[in-house]
Amino acid sequence: MDDKQTLVKCLVWDLDETLWRGTLVEDGNVRLADGITAVIEELDSRGVLQAVASKNDHDLAWTRLVELGVADYFVLPQIGWGRKSDSVRRIAERLNFAPGTIAFIDDQPAERAEVAFHLPEVRCYPADQALALPGLPEFSPRAVTVDSRRRRQLYQANFQRESERESFAGPDEEFLRTLGLELRVGRADDEELSRVEELTLRTSQMNATGVHYPDAVLRELCADPAHEVLVATLTDRFGPHGAIGVLLLETRPDHWHLKLLATSCRVVSFGVGTVVLNWLVDQAFRAGVHLVADFRATDRNRMMDIAYRFAGFTDERCECSAERPAEAGVQRLHLVPEPRALPDTMRLDAPAIGRPRVP
Ligand SMILES: [Zn+2]
Repeated sequence: MDDKQTLVKCLVWDLDETLWRGTLVEDGNVRLADGITAVIEELDSRGVLQAVASKNDHDLAWTRLVELGVADYFVLPQIGWGRKSDSVRRIAERLNFAPGTIAFIDDQPAERAEVAFHLPEVRCYPADQALALPGLPEFSPRAVTVDSRRRRQLYQANFQRESERESFAGPDEEFLRTLGLELRVGRADDEELSRVEELTLRTSQMNATGVHYPDAVLRELCADPAHEVLVATLTDRFGPHGAIGVLLLETRPDHWHLKLLATSCRVVSFGVGTVVLNWLVDQAFRAGVHLVADFRATDRNRMMDIAYRFAGFTDERCECSAERPAEAGVQRLHLVPEPRALPDTMRLDAPAIGRPRVP
């Protein structure tokens, strides 16, 4: 898939006559439709999240999913009597996913029409297509990594954190300090590079350039002494978040050029983008260079624009990068660095990059 917008990140299942044969309130003993378990497991292993939107008695339906041995595969189950479009919208909002990355499968044409009416970007499939879904390109991410196989657990741990956060009354930073966050920034190794490619495909929201760097290009740049390919990983007391950010930096004698900065939408609320930018500004100060960054506005990456401005980047022109103008449609942001303090919300483990500053 070349167009990252077309990949499905979450599939929302109807239950009666879709996930299982029969109607639960009429037949308490419903069984999964043939081949459905294999579809659920396959999509899960590819990192496609799965949720439920069903008009049913919540406790009865959830109990049946547990008995059938598939309850663990679903995040954010929406089981009740409300509109399915509301259920799908809630799922998208809680996951921080664009509606265009959500798919919905239901045997009832009227339910599919209701979802399509309110959420036209959501892709709707009839129940008889369930077994064919893993063969469709929109359910076939090009890169399947350790992180995609663990994606569901990562989200489930996140929901656990959020429910703790909701019950925590102090200011946000105080809460973040209770998480024991550890952010590691390191030069990408071979295994991480495949995760990086996946990240740049998936992070439409926090991708500052909207540019996708293929694996092969990043591998070449890794070997180029004038480029740094850095991967950020995050852990906290609930466990690892995996690879959550990538930076592609060209280190030139008088300025560093940040060509790509993308962070996972899962960790936006932890302020990771700001921490990484502050670290980079501090490193640039130590190296005695200016920083320039490319920004291409998309309909999804406004938050990254805010992160750059918040870190002190401006539109001012500077001699340092004058001879290399930005491509059409790309804003060239600039910053004259000064020392920055380490974050007090997380522990940061990051390498020294560039030349040491001459005293
Ligand atoms: Zn400059």
